[in-house]
Amino acid sequence: MQAQFDLQNFNTLAVPCRAACYWRVSSREELHRALTVARERQLRILLLGGGSNVILPSHFTGLVIHMAIAGYELLKEDEEQVLLRVGAGVVWQDLVDYCLNHNYFGLENLSLIPGTVGAAPIQNIGAYGVELEASFHSLTAVHLASGEERQFDRKDCEFSYRHSIFKTQLKDQYAITDVTFKLAKQARLVLNYAPLRQALEDLPQELINARRVSEAVCRIRRSKLPDPAQIPNAGSFFKNPVVSRQQLHVLQNSHPDIVFFPVDDKRVKLAAAWLLDRAGWKGNLEQGVGMHSQQALVLVNPGRRPAGQILAYSDRVQADIRRRFGVQLEREPIAYPAG
Ligand code: FAD
Ligand code: NAP
Repeated sequence: MQAQFDLQNFNTLAVPCRAACYWRVSSREELHRALTVARERQLRILLLGGGSNVILPSHFTGLVIHMAIAGYELLKEDEEQVLLRVGAGVVWQDLVDYCLNHNYFGLENLSLIPGTVGAAPIQNIGAYGVELEASFHSLTAVHLASGEERQFDRKDCEFSYRHSIFKTQLKDQYAITDVTFKLAKQARLVLNYAPLRQALEDLPQELINARRVSEAVCRIRRSKLPDPAQIPNAGSFFKNPVVSRQQLHVLQNSHPDIVFFPVDDKRVKLAAAWLLDRAGWKGNLEQGVGMHSQQALVLVNPGRRPAGQILAYSDRVQADIRRRFGVQLEREPIAYPAG
């Protein structure tokens, strides 16, 4: 365990954060030791993976547990699928590469999402029409307060759009130690997102496979998204709001070109980036914090400003979108209060 640990380089938004205590845990046993110490000293716990979806406070007086449990274990294999257990600290992209190298399919659209395997179920990561949920089998987690281990299957996790039970009822209560994936041995490509289809349209049909899809996703992402190493950011800062078709009709009266995608008979998903762009936030920068000039949904922090300034800026953005469109934007990264 280390004291007074600087976490500015451990979160992709690069907010300054000093943790009173920091412990990088590489095994389940080490996690249990860290939890025991936290209980004995009555330390609040903050779990950290790759730091790509958090807004850290300037000061954290408790214990930051950095989840670094490694490892892959093939649990089961038949002609159609495999069950693969993966340590929570494995870097997500390493898992994607591992699967492509072993011809295990299902994660290719989720290429190049930053962060760790253990954090992926927290918000049911998704991109290009695929969500983690589709390849998820189960996970193991340790209850922070009691140290008890528990298995969660897909139903237990209550996955939905960029959401799971770990963001609400069970928020900050469990440390995920491993995730088991159910992966197909025959690729079923998902190509319903226009930019992905377009990126592959020059290839003959017979050459389009999971690896090509993964490469195309990586190419598009690199061309559009700011690299956190160059411009600190946490990816999409707001979720795409889901509204009723009735509300959409009202909005279409004043904004006939509003961008939306059907969810079901009653609801549509609005493109938050369109709302932000139309409201003039794209490329706006105020005292080192702003919305990216290429992708309006990505809040950037080139000034490496603290959480307070980022949250104040995002409050202003949300209030403006509410005033203009009557739509409430919900923040995606998880903010932790100081203390
Ligand atoms: P962290 O940011 O470290 O933590 C996120 C939350 O999970 C925190 O609440 C933390 O306490 C908790 N947590 C972390 N590890 C554990 C664990 N082992 N057990 C229990 N709780 C834990 N997201 C998408 O869904 N789709 C995208 O396409 C996408 N693109 C992105 C692009 C960029 C450039 C960036 C910066 C982010 C993007 N994200 C995307 C968001 C982010 O990458 C994902 O949410 C990712 O899963 C976060 O992983 P992490 O390890 O960095 O988590
Ligand atoms: P994009 O392809 O320009 O599309 C803009 C928005 O329209 C996206 O938010 C996407 O919603 C939605 N969309 C596009 N085609 C769709 C379709 N056929 N059906 C339903 N919805 C559709 O988006 P982008 O910003 O370049 O991102 C590409 C993908 O990577 C998206 O899936 C996005 O979610 C993901 N991504 C996520 C983060 C993050 O931090 N969460 C960061 C970067 C990229 P969805 O967002 O719901 O998919």
